Amino acid sequence: MIAGPRARGDLAELDTYHSPQLDVAVRLNTNESPVPPPDTWRTELAAEMAEMDWHRYPDRAASSLRDAIAGHHGVSVDQVLAANGSNEVIQALCLAYAGRGRAVAVFEPTYALHRHIAKITGSEVATGERATDFSLDLREVRRVIESSRPALVFLCSPNNPTGLVDEPDDVAALLDTAAASGSLVVADEAYGQFAAWSATTLLDEETPLVVTRTFSKTWAMAAARLGYVLGPTRVIEQLEAVVLPYHLDTVTQIAGRLALGHVEEMESRVAAIVEERGRLQAALADLPVDQWPSGANFVLFRPRSRDGRDVWQALVDRSVLVRDCSSWPRLGGCLRVTIGTRQDDDRFLETLAEALA
Ligand SMILES: *Cc1c(COP(=O)(O)O)cnc(C)c1O
Repeated sequence: MIAGPRARGDLAELDTYHSPQLDVAVRLNTNESPVPPPDTWRTELAAEMAEMDWHRYPDRAASSLRDAIAGHHGVSVDQVLAANGSNEVIQALCLAYAGRGRAVAVFEPTYALHRHIAKITGSEVATGERATDFSLDLREVRRVIESSRPALVFLCSPNNPTGLVDEPDDVAALLDTAAASGSLVVADEAYGQFAAWSATTLLDEETPLVVTRTFSKTWAMAAARLGYVLGPTRVIEQLEAVVLPYHLDTVTQIAGRLALGHVEEMESRVAAIVEERGRLQAALADLPVDQWPSGANFVLFRPRSRDGRDVWQALVDRSVLVRDCSSWPRLGGCLRVTIGTRQDDDRFLETLAEALA
């Protein structure tokens, strides 16, 4: 073999973050909505696509979509940036604020892509630990931020994969510590609509905080790849400077703007999922597993006397796919199940009972 081009050596150390896309009957592994968006949305989208100027570049500023998002949250349009999933937002944040010679802080266990995307952009990652119950440990928060002086501090609330919603007081305290060290706090609220409070209430032009949201979960639009960030105008301007020109295609812009005309349907989907979550948690309580409280559309649990990985495989063998978290920091033996339809959840519960028998 000839010596070909060599990719960056530091990339070789990255874990590959992928939930396997297996062909199974019951898919409860990626926290998607169990039901599609409303039919009226689909009809409206088809109508607008029929009139679309395919030969023209998209609106580079995504003005109509950003207007709609700004209206939804009661912020101004220059406090919003939309992108290809909140993952692209996270990448833009790392490109603009972190990168080579700079650090980002994460508190484990948490969403693996914060660390992963930070490393792809060449950033150092300073790792802190959450408390035993997975809440924020403020002494640890101060230790990590004061010792690493990170450019970005990532939070995830409700946290994936634990389901825990950070306390407002803890987030406010973290924000003070971060502000004192010149860090920008990123609150990832992919599951924000499931929680009782949101860090969007802390946003203003003077506070070093941005909040990311996505259409992939509560909006039932994972196929579209659309997310956004709310934050101070000067931060949004920095993000605009690093995204690729015309990064957000016209179809996605239309799809998101139209979705925001269906807030009530989204909210009723969220309410139905929360109710179903209660039913699933009650059923799990009758099985030999430990589970954690959840403020999201998934539940983290750990089989008591069986290896998590074996249980995961036994479920797959019976055509039920959940997320295997057993190799993640501090989550040995843990699995995460997305709240699905009643039917899918029943199938999961029966199959789990069999696998644990
Ligand atoms: C699912 C998820 C996202 C969504 O990412 P997209 O790129 O918008 O699909 C972001 N953050 C967390 C914590 C998630 O679980």
